[in-house]
Amino acid sequence: MLFHSTRGQSDPMKFTDAVRAGLADDGGLFVPERLPDLSSRLTEITAGSYVDLAEAIFREFATDIPAADLRALIEKTYAPDVFPDGVSPIQPAGNLHIQELFHGPTLAFKDVALQWLGNLFEYILATRGGEMTVLAATSGDTGSAAIAALGGRENLSLFVMHPAGRISPLQYRQMTTAPDANVHNLAVEGTFDDTQHILKMLNADADFKQRVSLGAVNSVNFARILAQIVYYFDAWKQLGRPDRFRVSVPTGNFGDILAGYYAKQMGLPIERLILATNDNDILARFFDCGIYSRGDVFATLAPAMDIQVASNFERYLFERVGRDGKELRWLMDSFAKTGEMALPKDAAADELFYAVSANETQILDTIHDLYDATGYVADPHTAVGVFAANQFHIAHDETVPMVCLATAHPAKFPDAIARATGRSDLASHPTLDALADLPARCTTIPADQTAVRHFIEEHL
Ligand SMILES: *Cc1c(COP(=O)(O)O)cnc(C)c1O
Repeated sequence: MLFHSTRGQSDPMKFTDAVRAGLADDGGLFVPERLPDLSSRLTEITAGSYVDLAEAIFREFATDIPAADLRALIEKTYAPDVFPDGVSPIQPAGNLHIQELFHGPTLAFKDVALQWLGNLFEYILATRGGEMTVLAATSGDTGSAAIAALGGRENLSLFVMHPAGRISPLQYRQMTTAPDANVHNLAVEGTFDDTQHILKMLNADADFKQRVSLGAVNSVNFARILAQIVYYFDAWKQLGRPDRFRVSVPTGNFGDILAGYYAKQMGLPIERLILATNDNDILARFFDCGIYSRGDVFATLAPAMDIQVASNFERYLFERVGRDGKELRWLMDSFAKTGEMALPKDAAADELFYAVSANETQILDTIHDLYDATGYVADPHTAVGVFAANQFHIAHDETVPMVCLATAHPAKFPDAIARATGRSDLASHPTLDALADLPARCTTIPADQTAVRHFIEEHL
């Protein structure tokens, strides 16, 4: 299996090369040359464990990793000591099936993909030699999941930038108490946008990039999307292999829902993907009217979804323009210039997607009402998906099973849970409580790419 750039101007690469590179040279994202059709093997591949299922799916894409090595990597990633309560168990809550993806080390769904990516990076470096530097920008959740995945790895250094003073005390503790010597936390004196800008500028610095061997852990890396395809198949299995089912996905960068879209293309009988956003509703507006236009970013109760320009949307658009790199390039260029891209309404329409956005009051009311009706405590991100699923049910029949992806443990957002329910005893977790007394390590640095570059060069 080869991986092509969405923009069509880079050489196709094998899986491990595409993972190592992160982004293609032409600025595009790597996509598989085709999506394998597993429709005739659905029951067979879901007959065993989660590891067996992941292996059946990964081997279609990671064709340059020997079968025994691949199996060992997957076993290590989804081991019971990493995901003690399973990777993606479903809990019933009223007429919804809540699929909990937050049982990894940092209690957010990003662990499912980043634990795999961490093991994969280590394997690639061990088999080929060399070292790697990873620079990440985080508004909170990605940073701790990346640290849990890459901390203590051989030949790998991780630098995580967060906007100083703009993340929650809990998120700060989760990141800065990591004891590993290869992890460096940088509190950047600026906004999250400033940290993303620094990341982008240093990635565009070809000389620096090569010198420190820079790699990418955000969801532009195809290995992350691949890991997320698996739990859609696992949901279908846990539901008892229905003729069709629906999935509601709390969406920010479009990575998680893209994995669902790929699962559907691979033959899984997903009838609808409910695209759930918070007040940052650029994607919902696209599926409603075909116009994709950048606006201001609002800070919401579901901060991991406070994103205007969703990087993985490019992979979806690539499919929608018939995998035509030239057409895609034209669209992305005009978006970069004008902040807007318009597809004819017919071209934008996609029956598979149903988009709903939830405002702040609706998020709090959803947490409250779900708890009242079922006793289930949902975090604010999960609540956005639950709200969207309920909206869909108001307009459509309820005979088809509805899965809601639960993307974070409620204990990560205790203030929102207390505000919504009036109770402060519903959201806690021993992993988070244990961080309270650990020493923190963090360096404050100006919002300046040269300062960050110097820091990295000094600390390698
Ligand atoms: C990252 C994240 C999301 C959004 O996922 P995307 O793949 O970016 O769409 C939703 N919820 C939580 C808790 C997250 O950390």
